[in-house]
Amino acid sequence: MNKNSSNTMALAPNTSSKRETVCIFGTGDFGRALGHKMIQSGYPVVFGSRSTQTSSLIPRGAEVFSHAEAAQKAAIIIIAIQRQHYNFLIPLAEILRGKVLVDVSNNLKINQYPESNAEYLAQLVPGAKVVKAFNTVSAWALQSGTLDASRQVFVCGDDMEAKQMVMDIVRALGLTPVDQGSLLAAQEIENYPLQLFPMWKFPILLSLGLTAFLFFYCLARDVIYPYVYDNKDFSFFIAISIPNRICPVLALILLALVYLPGVLAAIIQLYRGTKYHRFPDWLDKWMLCRKQLGLVALAFASLHVLYTLVIPIRFFVRWRISSRIVSQALNNKTEPLNTTNAWLSDSYLALGILGFFLFVLLGITSLPSVSNNVNWREFRFVQSKLGYLTLILCTAHTLVYGGNRFLSPSSYRWYLPNAYMLSLIVPCIVLVVKFVLIFPCLDKPLTRIRQGWERNPQYSEQSNYIINKSAV
Ligand code: NAP
Repeated sequence: MNKNSSNTMALAPNTSSKRETVCIFGTGDFGRALGHKMIQSGYPVVFGSRSTQTSSLIPRGAEVFSHAEAAQKAAIIIIAIQRQHYNFLIPLAEILRGKVLVDVSNNLKINQYPESNAEYLAQLVPGAKVVKAFNTVSAWALQSGTLDASRQVFVCGDDMEAKQMVMDIVRALGLTPVDQGSLLAAQEIENYPLQLFPMWKFPILLSLGLTAFLFFYCLARDVIYPYVYDNKDFSFFIAISIPNRICPVLALILLALVYLPGVLAAIIQLYRGTKYHRFPDWLDKWMLCRKQLGLVALAFASLHVLYTLVIPIRFFVRWRISSRIVSQALNNKTEPLNTTNAWLSDSYLALGILGFFLFVLLGITSLPSVSNNVNWREFRFVQSKLGYLTLILCTAHTLVYGGNRFLSPSSYRWYLPNAYMLSLIVPCIVLVVKFVLIFPCLDKPLTRIRQGWERNPQYSEQSNYIINKSAV
């Protein structure tokens, strides 16, 4: 038999022969759901329970025995019981010798115990072959058949044969086993279902904080100020005008924050003269959530587009346009076309459209289904070169929006500049530093450092030579 066909044999579950009996300890929610799915897939199932009476909840076709009796009927035993009850397995150690014990348990907190539940199980029953699996699948998904979000089953264990047997069952249930290696990986697998969007925490908290700050900032400038000084009620600005100021400001700041850690990393590497020193933790974490920061920025940019599209149908805008026309008619005077303003307005819109188009392109290429289909160079080209181009276009869009209003005193209410001016600070810093880093006197050493060159090598070639010689 050739190599390929043997691989196929290993991967495909054996569907022709009769399936082996599987034992499940525990008739709780998970044990029953898994038993039900296994019976559907053709596995004879026996339950090991403290009570041997069959209830209507037990999947039809399964039998219930005492733990000791059930264990003797199968080579694989799934322990669908909480970790704190594992002690009942100690007296069964002899019966469980040589059996494959599948630990499906989860904890309530990340790193709740010093060792993983699977390692703890292996310590309690040293003669058994422990495999961790199924903990990322919920009882509800198993029972309802809605396994789309959790089709992957992480599997780990020290015994290859035992792991293979469990992976065959996983495949037979229509799920995808993902081999995570030895039992040492169990802790990570147990922590996985407890994580709540870990990479999204910083971008979401940051955008919530900035949204709150900008909301009160715009409220003070655009609603409270005119009320205090001109007795004008612009409180309706809260519905559309203020969100439409906050969204583009946030989109631009967050997009700049995607590229800021990259330039900071470059400065640190140039200063240290090596890439072999770890970055500070905060910078590492910041770099890891750049994709999420970019996607949150894209969400704000999309909202800005939607808010902008409804501007012409707003009552306030229609009232302002008609009152201007009426005032021109009453004064019998037509305002001449201001070509400078026409240019500024069209350029502002054109830059916004192009910037948003590239922004969407960046978002699409960050989707796994797309990024998996481009090579590393193509991905870097899109995310870095097109990313910077997006940042330049969006910054230019905001600069042109400001136009000749930057120095106008009416732009500063209570000495507070307009929100869009604040949004320009971070992107301008990023673009200026990036521009400086392009100069050959900085770019060349940076490229060399990134290829492994060190200004003050920690391990010189001579010392390597001496070490090698003494080793001989
Ligand atoms: P459960 O509904 O509380 O059931 C646990 C079962 O353990 C009980 O029905 C009982 O079965 C048995 N048991 C309870 N106390 C015991 C003791 N002192 N000694 C021996 N057996 C005892 O829990 P579950 O939701 O099915 O969860 C079982 C395991 O699967 C847990 O480790 C959990 O982390 C894991 N898990 C659950 C889900 C889920 O969606 N529920 C998802 C992934 C993983 P008998 O009465 O038959 O003895």
